Amino acid sequence: MTVPNSILAAGISFLFLALMLWPLEKVFPARKQRLLRPDWWTDLLFFLGQYLLWGGVVFAILQYFRHWLDGILPAAFRAAVAGQPWWLQAAEVVLLSDFLIYWGHRLQHRVPFLWRFHSIHHSAEHLDWLAAHREHPLDSVYTVGLINLPAFVLGFPLEMLAGLLAFRGLWAIYIHSNVRLPIGPLRWFIGAPELHHWHHDKARDAGNYANISPLMDLLFGTYRCPDHEPEAFGVSEPMPKSYLGQLLHPFRRPAKSEKSVSDSR
Ligand SMILES: [Zn+2]
Ligand SMILES: [Zn+2]
Repeated sequence: MTVPNSILAAGISFLFLALMLWPLEKVFPARKQRLLRPDWWTDLLFFLGQYLLWGGVVFAILQYFRHWLDGILPAAFRAAVAGQPWWLQAAEVVLLSDFLIYWGHRLQHRVPFLWRFHSIHHSAEHLDWLAAHREHPLDSVYTVGLINLPAFVLGFPLEMLAGLLAFRGLWAIYIHSNVRLPIGPLRWFIGAPELHHWHHDKARDAGNYANISPLMDLLFGTYRCPDHEPEAFGVSEPMPKSYLGQLLHPFRRPAKSEKSVSDSR
């Protein structure tokens, strides 16, 4: 994509998301919050960075990974998979993706090396749809790679899942929004912002690792949904405030005092 096209895509996406989610955040706020809350500009830089630079890099790495897998997987395996009805293949891909992203996400919270990158996302102290974009590009490679891995391995055409992939992306943004809709037990099936808000609880160990449906959280005992919002969001370890500082943070040698900060997450 050319630079003017990327700028246009970023602008259109921003407008689309803002026009859809700002009114919801205004009418059904999960907590009282100004629109231009603290760190809004940092999150805007993450948004722009994703559209103008990192999105393309992540996509290129994924394409490379996909071709590499195509080269090493036996043709007989692919043929066996392709011999199944398409709906069964789609169900396998969706369930495997949910399973992988659930456990992959738990690992991001348990393995110090992965947490270095994932902690950037969790450093947001104010949640809204824009804060969803605060994500280190290498954290995105990990997450998007895991989500797409089953389709890559099974050889399922991604085009057939394009709608679902777009929905996953949009849903990931929605669950960060400062919204609490009275949907009752429906949240057991489709998830909801309040579940992910608890995942961002600063006094962590709050579960909710799933991406869309909380099915995996329910299965593996990590579903949490108190009827109020967490007291605070963020991380308890020191974290740079600036965009550039956060991009570089995972590569910084941790100070001795930081090494002991671990299981609060
Ligand atoms: Zn997390
Ligand atoms: Zn999040």
